[in-house]
Amino acid sequence: MIFTINREKKQKRVKKTKWEDWRWQIKHTIKTLQQFENITGIKFSDEEKQVLENTIKKFPLSITPYYLSLIDLNNFKTDPVYLQSFPSPKEMNVYKHEMPDPLHEDKDSPAPYLTHRYPDRVLLHVSNLCSMYCRHCTRKRKVGDKDSIPVFEELEAAFKYIENNKKIRDVLLSGGDPLMLSDEYLDKILNRISLIPHVEVIRIGTRMPVVLPYRITNSLIKVLKKYQPLYINTHFNHPRELTSSAKKALAMLANSGIVLGNQSVLLSGVNDCPRIIKTLCQKLVQNRVRPYYLYQCDLSEGLTHFRTPINKGIEILESLIGHTSGFARPTYVIDAPGGGGKIPVEPNYVISHGTNKVILRNYEGIITTYKEPDYYEATFCDRDCISCKLQLNLDEANKFSTIGIEKLLSDTDKTISLIPSVNQRLKRRKKIKKNDKR
Ligand SMILES: *Cc1c(COP(=O)(O)O)cnc(C)c1O
Repeated sequence: MIFTINREKKQKRVKKTKWEDWRWQIKHTIKTLQQFENITGIKFSDEEKQVLENTIKKFPLSITPYYLSLIDLNNFKTDPVYLQSFPSPKEMNVYKHEMPDPLHEDKDSPAPYLTHRYPDRVLLHVSNLCSMYCRHCTRKRKVGDKDSIPVFEELEAAFKYIENNKKIRDVLLSGGDPLMLSDEYLDKILNRISLIPHVEVIRIGTRMPVVLPYRITNSLIKVLKKYQPLYINTHFNHPRELTSSAKKALAMLANSGIVLGNQSVLLSGVNDCPRIIKTLCQKLVQNRVRPYYLYQCDLSEGLTHFRTPINKGIEILESLIGHTSGFARPTYVIDAPGGGGKIPVEPNYVISHGTNKVILRNYEGIITTYKEPDYYEATFCDRDCISCKLQLNLDEANKFSTIGIEKLLSDTDKTISLIPSVNQRLKRRKKIKKNDKR
């Protein structure tokens, strides 16, 4: 195997066994401009270097030799791999609306390394390390922090929190990249979580199949296989990333019974094109990976040049829905700034409503009528599932409680509006009440 990235034919020969050894790849990760220039033969002017050095000081550089080898050196300035991994001076432009932690992950953290946002699932940051630093990272604030992986004892508070919250049925390992941990350590963490009786599924979010597919080894598979049902979400953004090595890694995971999903980020200049996303999605399902989310780029600092209007995402979804397999389309989501969680957005298909009719349009532009039943025997829901004619037959059913919009739709809850607690009108009311001594 040749380290084929030098244009000037000073090709460095690396044995295949070494090249495909993930630890070799990590050890030889490209972290400086000098290394990048030496390996690729690309030369930057002194002026460019100065700006790039400043950028790297703020947002460090790290590219695995494997991922670097995917860059088309004859066309690198618009190369999707280059754009995702090599710093742009534009990252230094931080705008007023950008935030270090737009999703308030640190504010929603009840225990170190844990983010608890939704009722039934949590995010556990088991590693602060990544093999490649995505330039569009939403956790850019953490990139280049002192690289660290919490020791087992440091995670205990998070484990305890999960143990004490019976509603948590889904634990998502994230980071950094959880697959930066050794097989043994990952095994220990997965084992600890799997022993919590109310945890029904474990998920891992990792970009290894994309940036370092050799991390998917037989010994890793042996560990992962033990923790079914296990879901792995990876992060392909462009069809070019689906190389034979990546495909092999995905096949190893799928063959071992792991359910695979993909989370892409919509990135200007990289994949903001219906044909690119469609090709990507179709190639993913061909490799047994379900497109899961397509993210609108977050409001993290220094990402403005990557951001598209939301309408771009809607346009892309318009080209997927109906046009290709239903399981080949991701849900397009905006992760709410301020920590509201993911909000799905898609084109409108409902055109109008009559008393018992809904007018819809399809992907071809055909306008159609759906006649609703004139008579529908609605089941009054008082949350007493035991005596309901619909047979849920679950002991837990009684404990059901409603949150948010669901509350407004419920038959029994008296709430008729949801009012933000920091609403100005309410503040005024309080003030009024205080002053009103009648
Ligand atoms: C994305 C996310 C999850 C998982 O959300 P799903 O929609 O279930 O995939 C959980 N917690 C946090 C904090 C998240 O950002």
